[in-house]
Amino acid sequence: MRSRTATDWRLEALALTACAPVALMMVLTYHASHNIGDVALCACLMILLALIAHYGFEVAMLREQVDAMEKLSAVTLSQTNPHRLTERFLQLSARLIACDRATLWLTDETQPRLERVSRQGGSSGSVPNACRLSSAVSTIRFGEGLIGKAADRQAPQIIREGARGGARDESTFCLLLVPLVVGGETIGVAQYERDAPQSYTVRDIARVRSLATQTATTLANIRMHQDVYNQSVTDELTGLYNRRHITSVLLTEHRRAERYGHAISMILLDVDGFKIYNDTYGHPQGDVLLKRLSALLRENVRSVDIVGRWGGEEFIIVMPETPKEEAWRTAERLRIAVASAVFPGHPDDEDERVYKTISLGVATFPDDTQDMQTLIAMADQALYRAKHGGRNQIVVAGAQSSGQHSENAAA
Ligand code: GH3
Ligand code: MG
Ligand code: MG
Repeated sequence: MRSRTATDWRLEALALTACAPVALMMVLTYHASHNIGDVALCACLMILLALIAHYGFEVAMLREQVDAMEKLSAVTLSQTNPHRLTERFLQLSARLIACDRATLWLTDETQPRLERVSRQGGSSGSVPNACRLSSAVSTIRFGEGLIGKAADRQAPQIIREGARGGARDESTFCLLLVPLVVGGETIGVAQYERDAPQSYTVRDIARVRSLATQTATTLANIRMHQDVYNQSVTDELTGLYNRRHITSVLLTEHRRAERYGHAISMILLDVDGFKIYNDTYGHPQGDVLLKRLSALLRENVRSVDIVGRWGGEEFIIVMPETPKEEAWRTAERLRIAVASAVFPGHPDDEDERVYKTISLGVATFPDDTQDMQTLIAMADQALYRAKHGGRNQIVVAGAQSSGQHSENAAA
């Protein structure tokens, strides 16, 4: 981190060195001529030089800000990754002001709290007690401490050494908090720390503010796109992937499997007698069952397996790099997990325990077919046979209709 920008020093030194000879000239002129007009002229010259230095300084400052914004734009245009953007923002903004450490806090999209997402510079051991952040502190609620309060107030804030609570034994400390606000909503707080006797000033706020606004707007856009994307690939009720996304995932996995010579297995499963459940306990309770079932499915597959809602009470699991036998074992694990799970019954009777079963069809690429549409059709046919075989069972595509069901199918 820079403690003072190079331009600052250069221009201030220039202003001083330019003013010194003029001041000397002013004294000499007065001594020689005692003409107040000449002295006034020298004074005007001195003021002019000071103004030139001042505006030169302002222009240089703006140039640095524009330069930082251009660099940040380059990241924004090439990335949709918020982490890369926040890292770059912190790095560029910390260069615009005197700063020993910088930390960025962003709002959690699900809860009213801030999460530490990025930190630059050394540890924050000298941070005053009022906002001391051990490296273990990674979340702060809105309104809590200096950072939470700055998020609530939505205005930049300078905390001078007085915030230390009266103790004067530690080194001098100063903090600058700049909330990232977009559309009246706080989406984060940038925190700059400085171990120096001089405090931050409004000029420092002006230096980082545009960059903070640009970052806030870009982050909000990234989040909005992410939300729209998530909505377009997920099923609203269960939170699982929807049919359209699964279809596109299958094409991608197919390309990968063909290229590397891997297998892909697929399980199609359907709730047995779901219509009766709906008719008995009501449609809303049926929705509760579907949500519980979705969670059960996710809990009983690997993280690389892709679970989706194929439609109604029918679900699909795509298992990359999975041979048929392993797929059957997963299907059996799912069948048992569902059959032994307790589902809610009548909404007014919390003690009612309802048990449900599922039927499953398994098909594997390339054993059963080379084509993904045919693979889905084969898994569907296997599921159909499982239903007709008596339900609560698994049928593996390509296997004889007898001897491949449920418990004995692995044999
Ligand atoms: P089978 O064992 O042959 O699968 O019988 P089933 O009763 O499960 O099958 P059927 O196709 O006759 O009924 C499926 C029911 O699933 C009918 C439909 O109302 C219900 N259903 C579909 N989508 C939803 C949903 O999102 N929520 C609820 N609660 N019910 C749904
Ligand atoms: Mg059904
Ligand atoms: Mg069905």
